[in-house]
Amino acid sequence: MLRPFEIHQPESVEAASALVGRYGDDAAFYAGGTELLLVMKEGLVRYRHLVDLKTIPALGALDYDAASGLLRIGGTVTHRALERHPTVRERFPIVAEVERLVANVRVRNVGTIGGNLCFAEPHADPGTLFLTFDAEVELVGTRGARTVPIGAFFTGAYETARQPDEVLTAVRLREGGPQTRWAYMKFGIHERPTLGVAVALTLDAERRGIEDVRIAVGCVGPVPARVPAAEALLRGAPLAEADGPLERAAQVAAEGADAVDDLHGSAEYKVEMVKVFMRRAFRAAAARFQ
Ligand SMILES: Cc1cc2nc3c(=O)[nH]c(=O)nc-3n(C[C@H](O)[C@H](O)[C@H](O)COP(=O)(O)OP(=O)(O)OC[C@H]3O[C@@H](n4cnc5c(N)ncnc54)[C@H](O)[C@@H]3O)c2cc1C
Repeated sequence: MLRPFEIHQPESVEAASALVGRYGDDAAFYAGGTELLLVMKEGLVRYRHLVDLKTIPALGALDYDAASGLLRIGGTVTHRALERHPTVRERFPIVAEVERLVANVRVRNVGTIGGNLCFAEPHADPGTLFLTFDAEVELVGTRGARTVPIGAFFTGAYETARQPDEVLTAVRLREGGPQTRWAYMKFGIHERPTLGVAVALTLDAERRGIEDVRIAVGCVGPVPARVPAAEALLRGAPLAEADGPLERAAQVAAEGADAVDDLHGSAEYKVEMVKVFMRRAFRAAAARFQ
């Protein structure tokens, strides 16, 4: 049962942050409510004050700067808006593709990117993908503004580097160059994903050698994470001879993924699945050069 609470509808980020600062543990930010209202209904948390972020126009903005290739996604931009936005579809097709696979259309219509990242439920997709963009998270709180690399944002299951009074105002992604292709592979047996693997593959100018590769594994452990040791095995390898390094990289990625037993399966099972999905994601990214 949902207990009574008061909704505050500030018009600025500063006012929102001040409200949570004032009410402390008795207050939380609220966006789509798809996670928050659920845990409140189940009595897992109780807040007497919810601070609605959707009344702050600036948080709903989505800006792309062609000169720098920077996409700035406001904290209350919904999954559905990202999935459908023409600029996202054209310049960041992998983001639209991954967003289209999040939850169902009802959740995507109201659920926001800020809510997804801040709730830090391990079985989620955008955080894993954003790691391969080296994305940055903008936070604004009563003590000012700061930027946190996405790799340092997730600190544990349902835990982030965000302070309670800090609003996630935006997440920033930089466009890949002409020699970079992305792929994201997910698999699930429940409502939420059991595993997700993101690969950003950059080839040299002749498209023969692997100049760079960024690989992130999500859902299987407490936080999504890059796997630098697996990336290093592939970097510099000729694409035509990538099978051997890929096999070893998949093994290393699976071992480094910090898989845990949960309702989605045993850690052992997830390790095997990471190997399979990492190989598939790498090959899918490589196929996108053709
Ligand atoms: C049935 C179902 C299936 C799902 N499947 C998937 C899936 O396949 N993949 C996936 O990635 N996700 C999935 N999700 C998760 C979904 O993406 C999130 O529920 C949604 O994005 C959360 O956003 P929200 O705006 O509703 O957050 P809310 O519920 O409003 O807030 C969540 C938390 O974040 C805080 N918060 C929200 N916005 C901000 C902000 N801007 N700054 C600071 N704190 C903030 C709130 O205080 C709260 O603690 C699923 C959810 C459901 C219910």
